[in-house]
Amino acid sequence: MTLSVFDLFSVGIGPSSSHTVGPMRAAASFAAGIRPFVDDVASLRVDLYGSLAATGVGHGTPMAVLLGLEGYRPETVTPEEVDARRAAHERGEPVLLGGAHPVSFGPDSLVMHPLTVLPRHTNGVRLTAFDAPGETLATETYYSVGGGFVERDGADAPARGGADDAPEASGPVVPYPFRTASELVGHARSTGLGFGGVMLANEVALGGDRDSEGRPGAAGDAVEEVRARLLAIRDVMDACVQTSLARSGVLPGALGVRRRAPEWRERLRREDPERAPEFWQEWVNLVALAVNEENATGGRVVTAPTNGAAGIVPAVLHYARRYLAGGLSDDEVCFRFLLAAAAVGVLYKEQASISGAEVGCQGEVGSASSMAAAGLAEVMGGTPEQVENAAEIAMEHNLGLTCDPIGGLVQIPCIERNAIAASKAINAAKMALWGDGSHHVSLDQVIATMRETGRDMSSKYKETSLGGLAVNVVEC
Ligand code: SF4
Repeated sequence: MTLSVFDLFSVGIGPSSSHTVGPMRAAASFAAGIRPFVDDVASLRVDLYGSLAATGVGHGTPMAVLLGLEGYRPETVTPEEVDARRAAHERGEPVLLGGAHPVSFGPDSLVMHPLTVLPRHTNGVRLTAFDAPGETLATETYYSVGGGFVERDGADAPARGGADDAPEASGPVVPYPFRTASELVGHARSTGLGFGGVMLANEVALGGDRDSEGRPGAAGDAVEEVRARLLAIRDVMDACVQTSLARSGVLPGALGVRRRAPEWRERLRREDPERAPEFWQEWVNLVALAVNEENATGGRVVTAPTNGAAGIVPAVLHYARRYLAGGLSDDEVCFRFLLAAAAVGVLYKEQASISGAEVGCQGEVGSASSMAAAGLAEVMGGTPEQVENAAEIAMEHNLGLTCDPIGGLVQIPCIERNAIAASKAINAAKMALWGDGSHHVSLDQVIATMRETGRDMSSKYKETSLGGLAVNVVEC
């Protein structure tokens, strides 16, 4: 499958792409499949397996599944709709299957299997619909494989739009196919397009000029269509920060974690009213915290490439927009940055994983840091070799990063970790730009190392909350 930039950057809701967005898409896909006989459905059963069961409650998985069964999609559901439907379910109201057909859904309808890992992936969900006598009308098993991508048992291609939206196996032909960093650098070097230009040319061939509903664009400049959609993604990132900064108080869940971003913004306004360069670090931290606090609240975020790591790309992009004097317009900086970052995201998705449940946090925060480093190096004018070097440095120093969220909530260590990883990305880009592009460890080698490290990592450290901080810090 050839990945689109809009597979790496999509709009969803928090707190988790694999545990919230993916299960919602799976359930929506199931609901769409049973639409022809929905009136015959008298009861439902949802089985959550592996990591989805181990940390699903903290990640909002049960609610995400119910929303999906009601036909809501992560791209379009509003936080207000989520709150309203959550309140309705807490009052014991039935699930509105497909948005209309009421089906009761009690405690027995949801069964957790935290110690059972299905063969294909640890994030498994099985959905079953029964008629009034209790006969099975339909059952499907789905896997949420990270970043909001969903696979259905019996289908090959993963898809972010939902398992039913999986593209044909053959897929469209792109001018610069790449799976490895060496192939990507080769295209970027031989064409002079850079990472972003290669990604853009492929995106146009993929039909990237689709509108926000995924429909083919009208006749016109396909490049401009892709630009408009990417800038709309940028706008969602910006809106996420502003929404978060307007909130205050404590994040959801038992930890009682206080939002810090709004207070930090007020302090920065006092101490850095002129936006002096020496305060760049504090502003980058602020953006990362704001995005991840909004994600932890269940708010609207750009999955980039996952929700847990959603603050890194916006934070580093903020640095590029505010502190680089490259002569590019703001739109152009954002456009080129996001394309180059997505090109590197393709490499992780193709060769390894972006799922914390599969390879630990190195796959989420590490991949996002690497993507952001590439985006920044590209808009700093790096050669293809320097951009590859930037992405490599950022991942090299995230290798082995475990996933051990306390209480199964995407809060500690996730929120601060995004700010730290954003700084790593900026440093990686600066280091790469001070070199000539030659380096000892290739990006392909570091991606392979990440994949193998993730394979060898104990499952305690892969989004199960059975190890690390999750067991050494007592929940309040
Ligand atoms: S520790 Fe990392 S991978 Fe795990 S939930 Fe937090 S951000 Fe995601």
